[in-house]
Amino acid sequence: MKTQAIKTPTFKAQILSAIALLIAGAASASAAEPAKVASLQSGIDIQYNDKSVKPQEDFYRHVNGTWLKNAQIPSDRSSAGAFMDLREAVVPRLHAIIDGLAKAKNASGSDAQKISDLYASFMDTKSIEAAGLKPLQADFAKIDALTDKKQIPALMAWLNRISVTAPYDIQVHQDNKDSTKYVLDIGQSGLALPDRDYYLKDDDAKLKDTRSKYLKHVETMLTMSGDKEAAKNAAAILAFETELAKVQWTKVDLRDPIKAYNKIEISKINELTAGYDWNAYLNELGVTGKIDYVIVGQPSYLVGMNKVLQETSLDSIKAYFKWHLLSSVASQLPKQYSDENFAFFSKTLRGVPEQEIRWKRGVRLVDSGMGESLGKLYVAKHFPADSKAKMEKLVANLLLAYKESIDTLDWMSPETKKEAQAKLATFMPKIGYPNKWKDYSALRITKGDAVGNLRAIRSFAAQTELNKLGKPIDRDEWGMTPQTVNAYYNPEMNEIVFPAAILQPPFFNPKADDAVNYGGIGTVIGHEISHGFDDQGAQYDGAGNLRDWWTKEDHVKFAAKTAALVKQYNAFSPVPGYNVNGELTLGENIADNSGLAISYKAYQLSLGGQPAPVINGLTGNQRFFTGFGQVWRGKLREQEAIIRIKTDPHSPGEFRANGSLRNMTPFYQSFGVKEGDKMYLPPAERVTIW
Ligand SMILES: [Zn+2]
Repeated sequence: MKTQAIKTPTFKAQILSAIALLIAGAASASAAEPAKVASLQSGIDIQYNDKSVKPQEDFYRHVNGTWLKNAQIPSDRSSAGAFMDLREAVVPRLHAIIDGLAKAKNASGSDAQKISDLYASFMDTKSIEAAGLKPLQADFAKIDALTDKKQIPALMAWLNRISVTAPYDIQVHQDNKDSTKYVLDIGQSGLALPDRDYYLKDDDAKLKDTRSKYLKHVETMLTMSGDKEAAKNAAAILAFETELAKVQWTKVDLRDPIKAYNKIEISKINELTAGYDWNAYLNELGVTGKIDYVIVGQPSYLVGMNKVLQETSLDSIKAYFKWHLLSSVASQLPKQYSDENFAFFSKTLRGVPEQEIRWKRGVRLVDSGMGESLGKLYVAKHFPADSKAKMEKLVANLLLAYKESIDTLDWMSPETKKEAQAKLATFMPKIGYPNKWKDYSALRITKGDAVGNLRAIRSFAAQTELNKLGKPIDRDEWGMTPQTVNAYYNPEMNEIVFPAAILQPPFFNPKADDAVNYGGIGTVIGHEISHGFDDQGAQYDGAGNLRDWWTKEDHVKFAAKTAALVKQYNAFSPVPGYNVNGELTLGENIADNSGLAISYKAYQLSLGGQPAPVINGLTGNQRFFTGFGQVWRGKLREQEAIIRIKTDPHSPGEFRANGSLRNMTPFYQSFGVKEGDKMYLPPAERVTIW
């Protein structure tokens, strides 16, 4: 589905999980009506169907048309849909948990104290207003103290540790060629806008307009903060980011794990960027002596960045750092700052009319900073024990179907099949919640210090990552909290992970007949397994290492199939003038395509040769496909849709549904799709991979 965690989450992803969501972007809600009693047996939300649209013409609208006509995107959201409804439903549950803790007497230093004080400090707008920008003065002074560009690397280390946007970012993850080791990965970063296209594309009026509004926003924020040269500095900041954008890799290039694997010895790294002292950087980061090498994601970018730093005045660089420092904590600052921050990053950029009510923002803050601590309490209350057992069975069935399917592939050689089976046999499923919970004892939260607390949760997250260097791999770690409505595959760990919160209708309905569950959560499980075999995942072996285990001929055949998928998705246009990027979304489209096929096989196996019952007038197979179609119901504001086209490796829901079904021959049989129908593709053009 969802986020393909191709790497373990970045510091930022961990502490800003609200924006690291699977379908990217801010979470959203819509007022879903409770399912009607009659529909519970099938698990199909028949009230959302539109029978006036034939399934052979547009299956997505046949299943979701009435919902699409009536659902409103809430005024504080950029999207609505099945995912967003579930995500939104989690928020009041977390709020109730936080409220309960706040009413109790909590020992100082306990998780309960930290959770309630983190929340209370954010809600304490009186103290926030009274403090103004005082909490940032020492930080501004630190940047103002720069007198020489030689001091930049150490400053950058500090900014990386507190999650302030800087020209590059770091991650700790498993070495892709020796997955028994943690390594430090250095990757391009430094932009405030969602993609380099926002800075560079002059033939797109919408992106150009956003860029000029960004300039205005920076100037407004700087003026508020007392900058006497706000206009000049804002222009310099935009110019600096534009130069960085020019040397950045595209999102498509970033997807290539081989190109992004550049192992550089610490003793050699300064050769890459003359004049930029990495030893000063690593020293300040506190990792000197712990690592012998780093992995550089985009070497040409670091070379280009170094040149940009050399060619930009120190005053402009200081202005850039101060701006990102201010922007990074804007949500914890007095109202004028957080309102202006909302006005640009949510209203202008994503089209959201109104800012979310404060208590919800407070809950999201706690969720992003202490998510597993909340998660422990969440699962105790909201995750039925038998859901875990049912999921374990479903996952086992999906893995079995995958195993059988690999054996029957008509295009793959026995050698490659053997390797694929070996990889499949080592998949590790994680369901519901972690066996071992994260330890927050090193985190300090102080009541009444909203900015300081945000800083504390970011530093804590960064230090937690850095502490892994030199230690054995922690296989119990989770990259998402249990209350996250999402799932992921991590190729380095070769694991598939399903948090508790996605195990709810319409994905997983313990009271419904099997068909809809195989169409929903079954295809999600199949999707995540398939990430192990998509164009990226297939380059890793079962041990989590980049190793080519394909024969040459099978490579060629696989590439032909994926090229056909790229072509199909390039033709989809969710917003007039903007097409899906078939290369950017390839991994997800392969996972959707294969996940659907495998779950269909698993459903057939589960029937054990017996006919499925007819419910709501639908056969078992029809309910399977309808279950798949209904999880993708959703709508986006136009600005949000454009951001996702530019940045999201997932195709829009409509095409995740229809785009997958058009390649699926059993779907044709189930709904009588024939030549001339809009859902029809000639058999030779249908892509089946796994
Ligand atoms: Zn995915």
